[in-house]
Amino acid sequence: MGAETKRNRGWAWCFKCECLFFIDTEWLSYCPAGGAHDETFAATFMYGINTEQTGESGWWRCVRCQGLYKDNGGLGLMNTGECPAPQGASAFDKVHSCDQSIRYFVEKNNTGDQTLQQGWRRCRYCHLLFFSGHSTQGKCAKGATHDATDSAFYSIYVY
Ligand SMILES: [Zn+2]
Ligand SMILES: [Zn+2]
Ligand SMILES: [Zn+2]
Repeated sequence: MGAETKRNRGWAWCFKCECLFFIDTEWLSYCPAGGAHDETFAATFMYGINTEQTGESGWWRCVRCQGLYKDNGGLGLMNTGECPAPQGASAFDKVHSCDQSIRYFVEKNNTGDQTLQQGWRRCRYCHLLFFSGHSTQGKCAKGATHDATDSAFYSIYVY
């Protein structure tokens, strides 16, 4: 066993939209399925996300919807992903807005690690990390359900 990976705790799985979101905050959350994210399952299990170089970089917490999303770099919906939070007049209000104080790393294609929960994907439309193992893929801000096309296999730490 090496040194334990540093993680930011306080993440939960929303069963309404299948996304991971940050629950340990006073900020409002917005679920693509309507209202706030469902906190029911946080009573049973929570998640910790790597905050050091273990896994893929480019992941951020959105301060508008509280989801964990992958930024491809650059501006606009194609790079940042569509946010479910209420939209303002500006086109930029449709995209996620990151908390730059913490850089997140998500285990990518590490499918053999049984200490992590497998089955997570990145949605090609909203860029949020969501659980793809249920029969329905969860509501997406884009309109229909999340789409795991072209996504790598992601896994995260449960506690
Ligand atoms: Zn949700
Ligand atoms: Zn967002
Ligand atoms: Zn989506």
